[in-house]
Amino acid sequence: AAGETVVSLTGLAKEYGGVHAVRGIDLEIRSGEVVGLIGPNGAGKTTLVNMISGLVPPSSGSATVLGTTIGRTPVHRVAAAGVSRTFQHSKLFNRLSALENVLVGAHLVSRPTFLRRLLWLPSARRDERAALVHAARCLERVGLSDLAGNRASSLSYGDQRRLEIARALASEPSLLILDEPAAGMNHVEAARLSELIRSLARDGLTILFIEHNVGMVLETCTRVVVLDFGEVIASGSPAEIAADPAVIEAYLGTA
Ligand code: ATP
Repeated sequence: AAGETVVSLTGLAKEYGGVHAVRGIDLEIRSGEVVGLIGPNGAGKTTLVNMISGLVPPSSGSATVLGTTIGRTPVHRVAAAGVSRTFQHSKLFNRLSALENVLVGAHLVSRPTFLRRLLWLPSARRDERAALVHAARCLERVGLSDLAGNRASSLSYGDQRRLEIARALASEPSLLILDEPAAGMNHVEAARLSELIRSLARDGLTILFIEHNVGMVLETCTRVVVLDFGEVIASGSPAEIAADPAVIEAYLGTA
């Protein structure tokens, strides 16, 4: 339900052999929020989302994501709890069609379905149809229905990035984490992506995304969190962040 705590971080920190990538972050994200994470290179943004998605264990502090304690929980458990993400660099299967790329995301979710298919049990065909319908819906959600049968590598750059989102949606997440989704996009593509993110949020998804395109972040988010040197230096509405002297000095001024 709206307003429920989705992410709760207390003193979360990560150190890599003396490098303090993230230094004691306290952060709450509530259901329905669209949170943009900005900050200079090396500020700790990727490390932070890697910890939230269960890829990297924290050095200290605690994190609860969708009721699951992050730390020793394997990444597939965190995913099963409802966290899905995209990566900074595209991880599409270039030779598979757009639809097949989304099916891969769906297959990762349902292990029983996958096993039945391997064993070719009668229920497998029904599962197969259901998976296709589901994948087609995910493509439709990001506006790629017309390109379902096209090879991923043949899609435009912006379409490939949205295909990654469609694949992330296949697991029906509650929390969607996007790592620089607008990177390399032109203005038109970025505006379309912004609209997509806001419409996913209207459907009840909680979204956390890292993005260097500050204009796009301010236009898209309900809240912006600014990291610098592994710490939160500001957190607030887009209007508050755009007017924050510390943010302007640390980040916007140099952007
Ligand atoms: P960017 O915007 O460039 O992606 P970022 O804000 O995502 O940067 P991180 O990638 O989280 O920043 O890096 C934070 C700091 O931690 C950097 O100094 C980086 O060199 C260091 N760091 C990150 N991952 C590792 C690692 N696996 N081993 C050692 N140091 C790391």
